[in-house]
Amino acid sequence: MEDCLFCKIVRGEIPATKIHEDEDTLVFLDIHPAAPVHLLVVPKQHIGSLSEVDASHQQLLGKMLWLAPRLAASRGCTDGFRTIINTGRVGGQEVFHLHLHVIGGKDRLPAMVHHD
Ligand code: AMP
Ligand code: ZN
Repeated sequence: MEDCLFCKIVRGEIPATKIHEDEDTLVFLDIHPAAPVHLLVVPKQHIGSLSEVDASHQQLLGKMLWLAPRLAASRGCTDGFRTIINTGRVGGQEVFHLHLHVIGGKDRLPAMVHHD
């Protein structure tokens, strides 16, 4: 995808602070961190959002989730972290290349879903 921001990062055309790379994924720091640790786990292949995955992506999705606790631990998240995938307009997705947020730090994160 020519103009996709995360495809450009995958191709090395835009700089990013890379944390992990393998044949399927790239993991780098979010440029506007929501907490002391904020990683983005990104598939190298362009997938617009979680809405666009199909059965052929099951192994890739599993790898992204499998990486999350390992990379969180490597950044010092020893007592938990949060994973988020924003999908589409309602989900508040801003970059339309699938990515898994991994967010954490020392302090408990604010509740994401509030119950009255
Ligand atoms: P989302 O709202 O789930 O689409 O999240 C997109 C994320 O990408 C946001 O948390 C942004 O801070 C992050 N982001 C945008 N541009 C960059 C960039 N050049 N490098 C790293 N992270 C970025
Ligand atoms: Zn892309």
